[in-house]
Amino acid sequence: MTKPTIFHKILAREIPATIVYEDDEVLAFTDIHPRAETHILFIPKQFVESVAHAHDHLAHIPGMLIQKAKQYAEQHGITGYKLQYNVGPDGGQEVPYIHLHFLSDTPLGNSPEGIPSEQH
Ligand code: 5GP
Repeated sequence: MTKPTIFHKILAREIPATIVYEDDEVLAFTDIHPRAETHILFIPKQFVESVAHAHDHLAHIPGMLIQKAKQYAEQHGITGYKLQYNVGPDGGQEVPYIHLHFLSDTPLGNSPEGIPSEQH
C-alpha cells in the first residue's frame, strides 16, 4: 500500500474539507487554494494515482469524473467551466491521487443551489 495522500485523508474524514458533492463513486470538495471563483476537485472513491495509471478495470475513471463534473455543472446552473487533469509531477500533479479540477468564474453562491454548507 502506498502512503496515504491528503486526498485519502479527506475521503476518510481525517482532515476537514468543504464537501460539495458525494455519491457512491466520487467525492467533490473545494480546492484549498482556489484559482477561480469556483474551484472544485473531483476524486474517485476507488484510488488511482493519475490518468496515466488508469488502466484495465480503472480505465473508466477519468471519463467518469468528467461525467460527474458535467452533471454537477448542470445541476448548479454553471454554463461555463474548465476541466483539467494534471498528470504526473512533470505535468504539475502535486497530489498523487487522481483528481479532476473544475474551474468556473461562476461563484457557487450565485448558482441556483447556493453555496455549499457541508463542512467536515
Ligand atoms: P495538482 O497540482 O496535484 O493537480 O492539484 C492539487 C490541488 O490540491 C491543488 O490545487 C491544491 O491547492 C489542492 N490541495 C492541496 N492540499 C489540499 C487540502 O488539504 N485540501 C484541499 N481542499 N485542497 C488541497
